[in-house]
Amino acid sequence: MTVAKSMPAVVQTEMKKGAVELREMPVPEPGEGEVLLRVRGVGVCGSDVHQYHNTQSWSVRVPVILGHEFCGTVAALGKGVKGFAEGELVASETAADIDLDCPLTRVGQYNLDPARRGFGYDLHGAMAEYVKVPVRLLHRVPKNVPAEVAAMTEPCCVAYQATVVNARIRPGDVVVVIGPGPIGLLCATMARLSGAGRVILAGTPRDKGRMAVGLKAGATHAAESAEEVATLLKGMSDGLGADVIIDAAGASITLKSALDWVRPAGHVSKVGWGPQPMNFSMDALVKKAVTLQGSFSHTWAVWERVLAMMGTGQLDPRPFLSKVSPIGDWKASFDGMHAGDLIKPVLTP
Ligand SMILES: [Zn+2]
Repeated sequence: MTVAKSMPAVVQTEMKKGAVELREMPVPEPGEGEVLLRVRGVGVCGSDVHQYHNTQSWSVRVPVILGHEFCGTVAALGKGVKGFAEGELVASETAADIDLDCPLTRVGQYNLDPARRGFGYDLHGAMAEYVKVPVRLLHRVPKNVPAEVAAMTEPCCVAYQATVVNARIRPGDVVVVIGPGPIGLLCATMARLSGAGRVILAGTPRDKGRMAVGLKAGATHAAESAEEVATLLKGMSDGLGADVIIDAAGASITLKSALDWVRPAGHVSKVGWGPQPMNFSMDALVKKAVTLQGSFSHTWAVWERVLAMMGTGQLDPRPFLSKVSPIGDWKASFDGMHAGDLIKPVLTP
């Protein structure tokens, strides 16, 4: 396969608001243990939008090609790569660089390796025709899963990790998901798949459209205010609160609502980032003996599981796929996501 020398890419050029542009970048060359992928689909993440507005709470190495939610066909194999053939459709994990000797990596928890560096902020991401990735990150996509759906594997894995791995949901449980962004909506779907009897999406009047989609994809209730959530919970089960809360909102203050709504001995799984300091008492956590669990990223086994679920049709994230467009339309997708009009846009470079 002949590969061009340069390619258009969505690049963050500087650390200032709006410093993202379509720019010609060199096509990467795969080194030892690496694979060059021809990108077939790349999702726009809230974190890409944050970097576009320079409101991220992580460090970025500019200039950098954005995009960490992607799939592609194998275009070239670096030295020593076995097990994959040119033309195969694969999805890629996000832990682009890890310390292979870190004790966490050695026990399979490389998502928590302090040295972990990711695509799209530290290393060049996939909003381009080509991206190079270490072969350890690749997973085969089932034949019946199209590329634009396979590009949604990453957020599905985030939701699986938060809802299934880092929470415990039993059949009939009452679950509240705070924050109906793409991750929250996928967490609601995962909660139903885990057996939850009732799943309440907690948002604001601004989230009406996105929550309506969530109601078609697993959630059983949608609430636009804290009072509405409290009233719903009083009428469910024994009225003592939610068995499990998944906090997927991008503001730390929502943890206060989580502690209000969770039942005694219940569980809170926090997957949403929020750099703001909190200004409330944690006494409810103590008094109710609540388990509070953070959730970050995902691991190999979760990727295999999620792709298998997509292959059998048990998991179908298509309701949340709002728009598929060429890479030249990146700005409309970023702006639409920022405005909350699009749940998950996918670009096809
Ligand atoms: Zn993401």
